[in-house]
Amino acid sequence: MYLRKLLSLPRTLAFRLALWYALIFTISSFVAFLVFHLVISSALRDRTDQELLTEVTELSSHLALKGLDAVELDIVQDAESTGVTRMFLRVLTPGGEELVSSNMSSWTDILVSDNALKRLMSGSNNVFDTLNNPRRGHSVRILYGIIGPDRIVQIGKSLEDDERFMMAFRERFLMLMAGLMVLGGLIGWFMARRALSGIEEVSRTAEDISKGSIESRVSLKARGAELERLVTTFNTMLDRIHSLMCGMREMTDNIAHDLKSPVTRIRGIAEMTLTSGNSLDEYHSMAANTIEECDRLLTMIDTMLDISELEAGAGNLAMDEVDIARVVEDACELFQPLAEDKGLTIIAELPTNCWVYGDVQRLQRMVANLLDNAVKYTPTEGTVTVSVNGDEDQVFLSVNDTGIGISEEDLANIFERFYRCDPSRSETGVGLGLSLVMAIAHSHGGDVGASSYPGKGSIFTISLPRKPISQPVFCSNITKW
Ligand code: ADP
Repeated sequence: MYLRKLLSLPRTLAFRLALWYALIFTISSFVAFLVFHLVISSALRDRTDQELLTEVTELSSHLALKGLDAVELDIVQDAESTGVTRMFLRVLTPGGEELVSSNMSSWTDILVSDNALKRLMSGSNNVFDTLNNPRRGHSVRILYGIIGPDRIVQIGKSLEDDERFMMAFRERFLMLMAGLMVLGGLIGWFMARRALSGIEEVSRTAEDISKGSIESRVSLKARGAELERLVTTFNTMLDRIHSLMCGMREMTDNIAHDLKSPVTRIRGIAEMTLTSGNSLDEYHSMAANTIEECDRLLTMIDTMLDISELEAGAGNLAMDEVDIARVVEDACELFQPLAEDKGLTIIAELPTNCWVYGDVQRLQRMVANLLDNAVKYTPTEGTVTVSVNGDEDQVFLSVNDTGIGISEEDLANIFERFYRCDPSRSETGVGLGLSLVMAIAHSHGGDVGASSYPGKGSIFTISLPRKPISQPVFCSNITKW
């Protein structure tokens, strides 16, 4: 288990991030080291050169004022005060012949460079040279300078101290860098783990959910805007899936419940006819009842499928210019006999024509469902008023009745599938009519709203756009009267 975890470590994002972090850290430190090295070594070199040049200037003025003997004393003293192993001075003729010098016992390997003398003679004031003699173990900085007529001084200074200093600098810096690299890797690892902890929690939650605990959510701790957005989106998605699952479960329960009643009725009719029915008439009546129940069942299943298709945007709408005033007028005529039977008055307040863009059959079903409800839930001597009006962009269709009304609590649920308010249980219906109305309105880019006053009546309003829409709207507008 641990071995597997260890082997998969290089594949983890945290490990790679830590590695990158350490690498970038190392490269930056190395560049910083190079820059420091260059700056310090050139500062040291400048300082040495400056010292040698000062020496030449001093010797030159001493030679002019006091002569060669005084210069000899000077160079011996200067070499001794610095250390005869660290510095030498000698005065030469332009041909390279030595006139006077400090103690040269430690500098026997240092010769006079003909090239440097030639350059001096050809006009250069000072000539610098660096000798790297491996036997000596350190470099020597040499300056040839003119201190008087036919007098040249050769000064050499050991760079041992500077080189030792640079070596110590290099060693310390490299040691520090190695330590910093390890530290950088560890800090990188820690930071990457911390930054990715949110993602790990998201995948842990996803794992929990796949094991069945659908209620799990990722906690929203302060982890940076990006991760907080991911966590919020993830949790919102889970909430949505959860509510969809609950909705589906509820719908399945409802379907099972609503399918059970007609099937039980069909079975009851068949059983009764089998046990007690003898005559052909009874068998005929059983067959007729069975067909009636089956038709109800099929209508219910068709409506459910229609709603699902429309909601999923797969309703295959046959879109065209539709005169909605004509559709409403036809529907009113269709429901007139039913209304008359119940002693209701249907009033249609319609313009001569009113064009919308839609599927005529779906719009007919929508209007029919609203009228059916208004007639069904309005007692004798009531009135159902249907009106159509609109503006440049939208058409408004309203069905207003003086019926039993809907309580505020029910009003919030009437557009849900299979929802039926208690006072209307005595009427036929399965609670799918308004869901279909809403699905049709939304699929046309419109909306549906309802307001009601219990005991006095209800108004259902549909708004439809006149022009074709690119995306359907999925919301509804429910208000209390
Ligand atoms: P149903 O088949 O039961 O009519 P609907 O989806 O058409 O199903 O309506 C859902 C519920 O809303 C109905 O059962 C009824 O209680 C209530 N309802 C719908 N329209 C009206 C109305 N015009 N007046 C009073 N109640 C209504």
